[in-house]
Amino acid sequence: MGMRLYDTVRGEVVPFEPGPTVSVYVCGITPYDATHLGHAFTYLTFDLAIRRLEDLGHEVRMVRNVTDVDDSILPKARELGIDFLELAAREMDLFHADLTALDLRPAWSEPTATGSIDAMISLISRLEANGHTYEVDGTTFFDVATWTKFGSLTGYDEAQMTTYAAERGGNPDDPRQRNPLDFVLWQPSATDEPSWESPFGPGRPGWHIECSAMAIAALGETIDLHGGGNDLTFPHHECEAAQSEAATGKTFARHWMHVGMVAYEGTKMSKSLGNLVFVRNLRRMHDPRAIRLSLMAHHYRTGFEWFDYEIEDAIRRLDRLVKAAQFQKGPNPAPTLATVRAALDNDLDTATARDAIDLLASEIIAGTGDDTTAASGLANAAGLLGIRLDVSLPES
Ligand SMILES: [Zn+2]
Repeated sequence: MGMRLYDTVRGEVVPFEPGPTVSVYVCGITPYDATHLGHAFTYLTFDLAIRRLEDLGHEVRMVRNVTDVDDSILPKARELGIDFLELAAREMDLFHADLTALDLRPAWSEPTATGSIDAMISLISRLEANGHTYEVDGTTFFDVATWTKFGSLTGYDEAQMTTYAAERGGNPDDPRQRNPLDFVLWQPSATDEPSWESPFGPGRPGWHIECSAMAIAALGETIDLHGGGNDLTFPHHECEAAQSEAATGKTFARHWMHVGMVAYEGTKMSKSLGNLVFVRNLRRMHDPRAIRLSLMAHHYRTGFEWFDYEIEDAIRRLDRLVKAAQFQKGPNPAPTLATVRAALDNDLDTATARDAIDLLASEIIAGTGDDTTAASGLANAAGLLGIRLDVSLPES
């Protein structure tokens, strides 16, 4: 039995059986504001999948892009009166510090949108050559009428797609579009926005083409695993898949994984409500390992509400783990390691994995058993979940 993961397209948990090298593309952030708990939950999910894949002997190449030019960073830079690249660099430093603190594995490659403009232009040129584009007033659109599979990733009907397009960065009311679901590939820049020369006129890329171009440039035309937060399913990933496959004629992603949203004490977390829980603030107050443990109480596909008191249970769990790791003996840890691996293979059942290491820690502390590998086994099992217990690990 290998890993089994839920695939958004097939709508069920299916075997995930990549080759020795696994290509993973996770949509990164637009660096214009601090990392919040929703970002942490998404990147933790991929981190756990990658750790287990490596445990199974795979080499994982995870690409996480930086959307350093799009419709949200430019207005923010304008508002702050600074260059958008300066804003991006500042926020990326903070983002990396948050990810490192949470012990999230670094990306194999982290391309920036501004560093990948040539790849975007060449992808749009392929789409143009294949007859999937049209141009109005200097803006080049993707013509969804030329792609019958449009909508197949999410399975949404046209009304649902139109609603989500309006809510999530699309512009279904743009009268220049032949179809409300058509989307921008290339557009003229405003006078104070960055602009690049292209065969479609001077301007800047649309949001979706950025990820397609960066993914293909770094990982090739077919990726093993692609995902992000589940608010990206439509329009972002649907559009990415459509334009990538329309350009290359190949399957873009073999498996799509999406992570639920995190709310805060009964309310949707949002910038406008001012109730974002920032990782930076949380980790100033608490051991980042407790933050990981706390998030792992929730299954990745299910959205959940964060309550501040949740961290207290995770702190107690972490204390037990750290304490147990100092003991000289305890129960045979092999069954715990097996349980953790089986739980991760079962569509990343983190709650079961977390409970398994907690149980072993409690038994060690209670004086059960006289196996001298108990503490190192516990550390190995916790390590599968990215929790370091500061003991020297024997070769396994
Ligand atoms: Zn993306």
